[in-house]
Amino acid sequence: MSRRAIMFERAVRCLLPCIAAVAMQASHAEPYAFPPYAKSEQVDADCDRMLADLKASEARLEEMASTRGVALLVDLDAMQRRYEDAGGPMALLTAVHPDKSIRDATDACDLKYQAFNSAFLQNARIYALLKQVQPADDIDRRYQRDLLDAFEDSGVGLPDDKRSRAQQINNDITRLTQEFERRVREDKTRVPFTVAELQGVPADLYKDAQRDEQGRYLLGLAYPTSFPFLENAANGAARERMWRAFQNTGGVDNLKTLAQLGEMRHEYARLFGFESYSDFALRRRMARSEGEVQKFLGTVKDAVAKREVADLEVLRQSKALHLKQSLAKTVVKRWDVLYYTQRARKARFALDQEQFRQYFPPEASLQFVFRLATQLFGVKFTPVQQSLWHADARAFELADIATGQPLGTLFVDLYPRDDKYNHAACWSFRNVSTLVGRQPAAGLVVNFNRQGLTIDELETLLHEFGHALHALLSTTRYTGEGGTNVKLDFVEAPSQMLEDWVYDRKVLALFKDVCPTCKPVPAALLARADKARHFAKGILFSRQHLYASYDLAFYGKQSQEPMALWTKMEGATPLGHVPDTMFPAGFAHIAGGYAAGYYAYLWSLVVAEDLRTAFAANKLDASVGRRYRATVLSHGGEVDPNELVAQFLGRPTDSRAFFKSLSK
Ligand SMILES: [Zn+2]
Repeated sequence: MSRRAIMFERAVRCLLPCIAAVAMQASHAEPYAFPPYAKSEQVDADCDRMLADLKASEARLEEMASTRGVALLVDLDAMQRRYEDAGGPMALLTAVHPDKSIRDATDACDLKYQAFNSAFLQNARIYALLKQVQPADDIDRRYQRDLLDAFEDSGVGLPDDKRSRAQQINNDITRLTQEFERRVREDKTRVPFTVAELQGVPADLYKDAQRDEQGRYLLGLAYPTSFPFLENAANGAARERMWRAFQNTGGVDNLKTLAQLGEMRHEYARLFGFESYSDFALRRRMARSEGEVQKFLGTVKDAVAKREVADLEVLRQSKALHLKQSLAKTVVKRWDVLYYTQRARKARFALDQEQFRQYFPPEASLQFVFRLATQLFGVKFTPVQQSLWHADARAFELADIATGQPLGTLFVDLYPRDDKYNHAACWSFRNVSTLVGRQPAAGLVVNFNRQGLTIDELETLLHEFGHALHALLSTTRYTGEGGTNVKLDFVEAPSQMLEDWVYDRKVLALFKDVCPTCKPVPAALLARADKARHFAKGILFSRQHLYASYDLAFYGKQSQEPMALWTKMEGATPLGHVPDTMFPAGFAHIAGGYAAGYYAYLWSLVVAEDLRTAFAANKLDASVGRRYRATVLSHGGEVDPNELVAQFLGRPTDSRAFFKSLSK
């Protein structure tokens, strides 16, 4: 199990790129203020105004006698901005607002918007006008192409009966995805444990937890609880109960929903003459085809299969030693993996994730990633007062240090609470546009322990911060191409690149600039962590390979029943399938935006490893950082990712660094 594996990244959940609405937009030089919703009625009212504006824009565009050239691209992008103005912050609030009536209202708005958008993208008149546009340069050409793709993928070219079916499916998919995510987010499962069963678990994890009438501690499934629990609980039966509860997040209702989503996406692809949803979706990605992805996954599998078996053997030895039993009698179960990985790592490298919390207080960790951005990209984050959704949420303005120019706004929500999105993600919910001087905004959401972060969690923070920087440092002409609006199998690369930074002594030394009272991580501990992170990589990558392969098979040529397929595929792995568990019920990625796209985490990592080579000599090199900002981050989606990376590296990207790293 990998923490990063279970993250969901992008805010906007439409099946297709969201194009929305026209509306006159004043130039936005002033800093962005988050809408302070106190009541669901305010959400409803903002939503209705947005939809009215979008409809008016559509009507205005339809009446145009002939194409207005590039002005049409500008009009369509203005619609995207109008959508983001209201729908952007709402997408974030769905995940973080404590008030259920507001979360439900933002979901309801998303449904209304989807209904508008799926119809709008079938507007044949506007599509025809768009086709006539003569682009003035490559940026216009790319935006025009992306818009045409969105219309075409929404069914503008289909016969009438299929067109209305496509609309219906798009709307149903939005609704079902919302239901799936809601069940995961609002899962109230609490697992009871006696004090004896908590042996090995850090007391901070449970000391404030509710207790049942028998005095047992009731622990929830949020990451800051369940993961350290599974890593540290010495009692195998206790771990099994926590692990099973975690695997069953979402429940049988989500399995039904996932089955429906699979059937609908399958039918959707067939409306367009494709045999599978994978084929339909992948033709627009960096990877181009399912065949390419399968070939890549096969190479990954070859590189890690033997290593997984060897890793599991190390865990088996660790378990036999721990339980003082013979190796022959010892079997590693799935709920053993995190615990014995941690235990064997401790034995081999004298390393415990819990050791790091004292060095990485949450506030200092946030200031540290800001400081890193200052060093590499010449930008500065300053706190600003805004009335936000919860007292834990904060706002920071970003400015360029050299010019003093404000660049955007970052919102941060660090700690877990009931009904909050329970993984780690970044919502780049408002995108830049240089045409109208619009500044971007992004929301970084994680769930950290207030006592401090492990080094794994510091990696997670840097990963999500990487998405935020991508959003905030982009300077694209069109909002629709801003920041993380890149191909799905490229979007993780800039974030994954930065994960590596936390193992660098010079980088971590930046902590002292922002937290003079923080104790520095001892050099020897960091050196051990750097070695230890390659431990059990076979298990980690095999799991990623399974997730990616499952997703592709689920959205493949045959309609699949989610549990039957999972049982078969997980059953074929060395640890097998555990009866009465249902991992797919909580696999929100493939219900939502990463459908036929989970492979993107591995695919992007190839690019990320290659990007790192430019910083090999010095991870704090300001000149490389500035060049990276200018050549990669600033262009968002307006240039092909292969081209961006080639410009930065001075050569075409390749997979050498990735496979070299895999063999470490
Ligand atoms: Zn990510």
